[in-house]
Amino acid sequence: MAEESSRKRKRPVNRRFIDAETGEEVAASTVVTNADDVAREVRVHSVTASGDPGRRRPIAIALWVGAIVFEVLALLVFNGTLSRLPGKALIWLIAFIVLDLICVVVAGQLWKQANHIDPPSEANKVEFFLKSQLGAILSAVAFVPVIILMLTDQESDGQTKKLGVIAAVIALVIGMGTSIDFHPVSAEDLAEAEENAIALGTGTVYWTEFGHVYHLNPNCQAIINSADIYQGDVQAAFEAGRTRACKFCANESGSDVLKDLASTDDEKADATEKADAATEDAEADEAA
Ligand SMILES: [Zn+2]
Repeated sequence: MAEESSRKRKRPVNRRFIDAETGEEVAASTVVTNADDVAREVRVHSVTASGDPGRRRPIAIALWVGAIVFEVLALLVFNGTLSRLPGKALIWLIAFIVLDLICVVVAGQLWKQANHIDPPSEANKVEFFLKSQLGAILSAVAFVPVIILMLTDQESDGQTKKLGVIAAVIALVIGMGTSIDFHPVSAEDLAEAEENAIALGTGTVYWTEFGHVYHLNPNCQAIINSADIYQGDVQAAFEAGRTRACKFCANESGSDVLKDLASTDDEKADATEKADAATEDAEADEAA
């Protein structure tokens, strides 16, 4: 029984790559050794990098300006300057905070996309941080002043103040949470990743609709059962938000270079230390 299942698992399988646009087979059929959970036909979506962030940055900046305008309007409603608006002041206060939030969230997404299409240089660390995390910084600018001014106000009625502050704090958390770039990339990261993908393969990388990383090996265990594969160069992967290489590809190929590429800097440092220690041991043995 065990023998049969193991034989079954190792049956070679042809995995066909079919271009989603042309319907034609795009790569030679690939033989894999594990027949379980393998997609027999794979639709390949070829993705071309644009390399151009287009109007994302100017639109993001315009939206941030809009966010600040809504923040000021919220404050003017709160302190009674805009008392002529019809209806309850609290409704207007919440409405302006929500409009502020919408501007901040959309601007943050556009800014992050622009940074993945056209990454800023890492040469100046401060400048790189400011450019990478501008969305998060401006989210704070769009809500922290209004929160502080509402908290320090002594004249407004208690309920408007309480609900206004709660709404603005929630908006701050959502705005910053969606605008922080948790995986910021630099122009140097992109150049290095491109070099590695060319050095280790054809320069083509693969990713799936919901995966967070790109793969150097189209038969990687992490994507072997995916029927839809996106393929392109590293820049196309970065533009699609896949800015890190997969770690499984390394184990499958058995390539040290690939392992080195996929491992984190910490792991790299670890491996180097161990290698150094081993060399020292060997040298000590020889000396003895
Ligand atoms: Zn992989």
